[in-house]
Amino acid sequence: MVWDRALKDRLAAETGARVRDWGGGLPLAVVYANSYRVAMSNLGVHALYKWLNDRENLLAERVFWDTDRLSTSGALSVESRRPLTDFSALLFSISWELDFLNLPPMLRAAGMPVYSKDRDESQPLVIGGGAALTANPLPVAPFFDAVCIGEAEAILPQLCQALEQTVSLSRQEQLERLAAVPGVFVPSIPAEVKRRYVQDLDLFPVGTQVFTGDTEFGDMFMMEVQRGCRFSCRFCLVAAAFCPFRWRSLDSLLDQAAGARKYRGRVALVGPVAAEHPRFADLLRGLRELGYGLSAGSMRVKPISDEILDELAKGGVKSLTVAPEAGTPELRRAIGKGFSDDDVIAAVGKIGRAGIRQLTLYSMVGLPGETDADVRALAALALRCKAEADRYAVVLSLNVSAFVPKPHTPFERLPMADSPDIDRRFDLLERALQGCGVKVKADNAAWAQVQAALSRGDEKLAPVIEKLDKISLAGWRRSLKAAGLSAADFTARRYAPGETLAWDVIKM
Ligand code: SF4
Repeated sequence: MVWDRALKDRLAAETGARVRDWGGGLPLAVVYANSYRVAMSNLGVHALYKWLNDRENLLAERVFWDTDRLSTSGALSVESRRPLTDFSALLFSISWELDFLNLPPMLRAAGMPVYSKDRDESQPLVIGGGAALTANPLPVAPFFDAVCIGEAEAILPQLCQALEQTVSLSRQEQLERLAAVPGVFVPSIPAEVKRRYVQDLDLFPVGTQVFTGDTEFGDMFMMEVQRGCRFSCRFCLVAAAFCPFRWRSLDSLLDQAAGARKYRGRVALVGPVAAEHPRFADLLRGLRELGYGLSAGSMRVKPISDEILDELAKGGVKSLTVAPEAGTPELRRAIGKGFSDDDVIAAVGKIGRAGIRQLTLYSMVGLPGETDADVRALAALALRCKAEADRYAVVLSLNVSAFVPKPHTPFERLPMADSPDIDRRFDLLERALQGCGVKVKADNAAWAQVQAALSRGDEKLAPVIEKLDKISLAGWRRSLKAAGLSAADFTARRYAPGETLAWDVIKM
């Protein structure tokens, strides 16, 4: 069969996959509701796979959602090409709200009812986790038997123990036992849940476990440097929901990197503010001494260290991102970013002088209180950056996305700008920068609205997601209309102070 061959080829092309004997441990599926290519650049998948397979009493295989030839067979595991229904529990890792839309087709392809209430003991338990579900699981809560709120390493020991001990009990008894695990939200037994996280990251090294060329960072060893953030940008979910700021020790990072050196010659350093690691320059030096080339995503505008930029350039980093976030110092102050336009220009100059030749500026539009003048100021700032970048032959681009007021952030009660308004601001920006040599890449405003609805929604969205006949904007609108809802019910609403929010059930 085509899919059988494709999965065998996929496994054969990997290094590090664990094909375990099904005679022993409790079989668990690590499921990612998106393609293999996307999933294998997600360190959460690698971390979960390692944690489970490091335990004799458990066994984990990976399942992805590829919508081409593989989907015709249903969702099968890579390791032994088994269907989801062969596993005791499915552990979904979901980082992006738009992946919520893939849950119903994936469960249906496996021959499973989409809603938890329609499944019985003959079906595996469906358990979710990951950033999007931690922030607000409610739009898809009726599909899950349980959802982990917070970091997997903090929840898995008790969760897996509960799964093992209840394997022969009724579904209701299993759910009651899971609801007693700290950090686990069982939608059919609703109660407030407090987020769990680990204190000492060194106890749980996180890096690429399975190497494949068929993913975006396939030529690199990905390694998590830190979690959380020590800053408090008012729009940011990391500041609100993934704190405290923690980092791995230099020794543990270098040990981990040394072990993976035989597989890859470049290392990608992962973390929301990786460069804030207190020994970041030493880490970069150490990695270069191990023979690694380096890859780093974004740097804060201020402070930006010449020493770190120099190390990155020596490590072969060709491109970086810095985020002005907004066009004026006033608007930046309002969102919790305290740097000036001159600071942005200074950062561009430093990056250019270090010899890094590609720079992406990242910003948002539709921020609370933003006016057209702020958007024009963003274009003017990009032009100043361009003039500075030209001095060092740096190629400059500008990525812009729509601001989404995320749950748990200080902006959670505010409405999102509507889609035509965001499009108009994207246009304003694009026209102001046309022909100036700054490549502008703008988000799709309509999809940003879908993402906002999914991140701010509640259980009323579950039938909308379940009945979606096609994952497209037209399909989404049809399904909303059939349910008697509008996206604006979730995106355009301004919540009064003290008014209960759908996601209040999650205590960060
Ligand atoms: S935007 Fe960046 S610096 Fe600000 S809180 Fe979020 S992760 Fe930290």
